[in-house]
Amino acid sequence: MLILLPMVLVSMLGGLVATWSLYSLRAENRNRHQHERQDLQVLIDSAQLGEEMAVVHQLVAQSLKAAAAGELDEAALYGRHTEIVEILAALGKRTRLLSRQQHVLEIGADSARLLVEDFDNYRNFVVMATDIAAIDPATAAGYIGKAHGYFVDFVKRRQAITAMISDVALAHVDKGAVVIAKTIVLVLAISGVVGVLMLALAVASGRFLSLRLTAIADALRLLSGLSGKPPPLPDMERMRNTGFGEFKEMAAAVLAFRTAIQERHRAEEKSVTDELTGLRNRRFLMTRFREEFERTRRGGSVLGFLMIDLDHFKNINDTCGHPFGDLVLQRVAQSLQGMLREYDVAGRYGGEEFAVVASGGSNSDLLALAERIRKAIEELEIREGSVSVRVTISVGVAVSALGDSRETLLKRADTALYQAKSEGRNRTVLL
Ligand code: GH3
Ligand code: MG
Ligand code: MG
Repeated sequence: MLILLPMVLVSMLGGLVATWSLYSLRAENRNRHQHERQDLQVLIDSAQLGEEMAVVHQLVAQSLKAAAAGELDEAALYGRHTEIVEILAALGKRTRLLSRQQHVLEIGADSARLLVEDFDNYRNFVVMATDIAAIDPATAAGYIGKAHGYFVDFVKRRQAITAMISDVALAHVDKGAVVIAKTIVLVLAISGVVGVLMLALAVASGRFLSLRLTAIADALRLLSGLSGKPPPLPDMERMRNTGFGEFKEMAAAVLAFRTAIQERHRAEEKSVTDELTGLRNRRFLMTRFREEFERTRRGGSVLGFLMIDLDHFKNINDTCGHPFGDLVLQRVAQSLQGMLREYDVAGRYGGEEFAVVASGGSNSDLLALAERIRKAIEELEIREGSVSVRVTISVGVAVSALGDSRETLLKRADTALYQAKSEGRNRTVLL
């Protein structure tokens, strides 16, 4: 399960970064909305102020015109003056509020200050003009002329400020769009990187798993089809020693399986091997004889059985000792094993008797094989310390013929051996 850890870490990291990006995207969006609303509010305030200034300026002009035409008496004119002063006080407050807006300050503190100055000058001259309009229309007209000049300045400045605020608002919108676009690109890039990483990790872990599973499958296949000695499994040993998790356990199980097979193999080998000579024992030899007898009979070929007995072996024991006799048996067995053909099997048949199950070949082939063995033993010199002996063997050869059973074949080999002994030993007889 350790193999999944990198994937979990990458997904968690990707998830965290994506969540963070989406949160910042949401915050940026909210910020942008707030900015846009504030921009809009400032623009609305500025437009309303402009409209109301125009209305009040019209009211002032009408009042002074009516006063000059004598249409308003002193009391009515005073009433107008008071009304205009109140309206201008309220507009003055709003002009100051507008000038202190962050957006207005952003485009220039000077514009904001001059807007307030224009308004104050306008208001002062309007107040003075409406104050003396009843008693001195000419001076009032002069004041109102100056007020008009400030009104025009005020209108122009307010329009310029509005235009600039509009530009700033548009810039805010553009900036917000760029930030959002960048955040979206970032989220997409992160998702892409995480996706590629996940894919790479999936491929790498798939390969990691597949390599190990294939190695385990190969090792098991090797062990399952095994007939001989269990093979070395370096991959499994490495996995058990340096691997981790389930693979370490699997490799250990495969190696334990190999050990079990090894032990079974050893036990099987032991059960079919003669302890002294290392040749096959009689049990194995007879099993092989039965199998080969049936196989050659079915296949229409012949089976040879060679019965080999050491001549006067008792004398060796008597003169050189039993342990030396054992050594002689081992050397003879070794020599016998070296003389065999590919499909022949030799075994220890009894005390100082050996036998060979020889499949394939004609009578003369088998006779030649028996003679080769006999001569090889005859030439063998067995030496230990100062003791040196030579031994000979007698060989009885029987070759399966039509109508033979296993017993008759064995019996014929035995008779042939007996005949070789009685004819003087160190010879081969085929029956
Ligand atoms: P022959 O030529 O008639 O076969 O004479 P032989 O002396 O070989 O035959 P015999 O049957 O009289 O004696 C066989 C001897 O082989 C008797 C026995 O002590 C000896 N022998 C059998 N098995 C072993 C063994 O495992 N080790 C040793 N050292 N001697 C063995
Ligand atoms: Mg004997
Ligand atoms: Mg003998």
